[in-house]
Amino acid sequence: MEPKVSIGILWNKAVSFVLNSDYSCLGKVVTEEKTVFLSNGQILWEGNMYDELYFEPQNDNASFTLKDVVIGIGFHWERKEDQVFQGALKLIVENDMITAVNIIGVEDYLTSVISSEMSATASPELLKAHAVISRSWLLAQIEKNKEIAAANEKYSTFTETEDEIIRWYDREDHLYFDVCADDHCQRYQGITRASANLVTVKQAISETWGQVLMSDNKICDARFSKCCGGVVEEFQNCWEDIPHSYLVKLRDSEHGKDIPDLIQETEAVNWIHTRPEAFCNTQDKKILGQVLNNYDQETVDFYRWQVTYSQEELSALVLKRSGIDFGLIEKLIPVQRGTSGRLVKLKIVGTKKTLTIGKELEIRRILSTSHLYSSAFTIDRKNDTFIVSGAGWGHGVGLCQIGAAVMGEQGYLYDRILLHYYVGASIETLY
Ligand SMILES: [Zn+2]
Ligand SMILES: [Zn+2]
Repeated sequence: MEPKVSIGILWNKAVSFVLNSDYSCLGKVVTEEKTVFLSNGQILWEGNMYDELYFEPQNDNASFTLKDVVIGIGFHWERKEDQVFQGALKLIVENDMITAVNIIGVEDYLTSVISSEMSATASPELLKAHAVISRSWLLAQIEKNKEIAAANEKYSTFTETEDEIIRWYDREDHLYFDVCADDHCQRYQGITRASANLVTVKQAISETWGQVLMSDNKICDARFSKCCGGVVEEFQNCWEDIPHSYLVKLRDSEHGKDIPDLIQETEAVNWIHTRPEAFCNTQDKKILGQVLNNYDQETVDFYRWQVTYSQEELSALVLKRSGIDFGLIEKLIPVQRGTSGRLVKLKIVGTKKTLTIGKELEIRRILSTSHLYSSAFTIDRKNDTFIVSGAGWGHGVGLCQIGAAVMGEQGYLYDRILLHYYVGASIETLY
């Protein structure tokens, strides 16, 4: 049977919601608008105190509206809006806040997530591949959360010494629900938006119902990113230092037997400064538009790109983004690269301080006002100017979305696309 997923939607001292049809709670039928308040670590509702409240829908089409959901947390477009959800509503207390959690069937959740993530022009095979990936990722995440809770140990995403700070950003920090609704996990906005691609997404979901990627009898943690840059990165170079047999280096091309050794600096430089053939080596706006929702047609080159900073700009940027005062930055030195040429460690040499940082996302955060496209880059200094030349977009692990879109256009079926990127995995139907 289809499993359920619990999604943490919002955190606040008071939560307002509207039950749009009949729900039951504590044996009573409830409906209409409600507001609950945090009071002495409990939930105050209609004069009584509760540790948690559970509102169960009384029919399949029941929905509730959550007021003032914050979306785009930490981004320039952060704002509040009311959102509509199907399924059950659970209110719990966490970190001195009331958390609103939505509980729905996995396939309904996937329909919502994929229709907001994917463009209306995405090909059916690309959508099917995405459905399998999102489902695998979600179910693997639920399994992993259970394991971490059972092992009862604090999951660490950080190592720090006097001259090195290595961080990675993963998703194992939700204790009382499976995933959150923001980009941290997968963006989920309930059923508020009737998107143009809803019919095709529903079809992709039903044609792949219950299908996941499996490897060694476990559901694959199916990572994906926008553009690998021609060679795929390995899991342990971006996150926890545990290799995954299906998230390994590979050449993103049909005849891709020869994989350059991009861990070597000279090979990485040569690779990044040229445009080798690859599925994702495309500037076709129609194909890019399949992957990038609301794609602005200006940037077309994600395969190879360039950013320049003056020394002053770079120094100010790094200070602002890292909070560390390096003084004037003199050099950026590659210390360790992964299989796709992405930097795992970068040494920043300043007039006041020298420090090595990693992994890839930390490097991208510090070297850009938002995020640098990827950490597969080289640095050339010409007088006062730092020229950052790069390859790909995102962490580059697992499926390459632009590459997969090209494969879909070339007539590859979704299972061929998936098995190209997840080495040695198989597709199995769980329910
Ligand atoms: Zn999350
Ligand atoms: Zn690629």
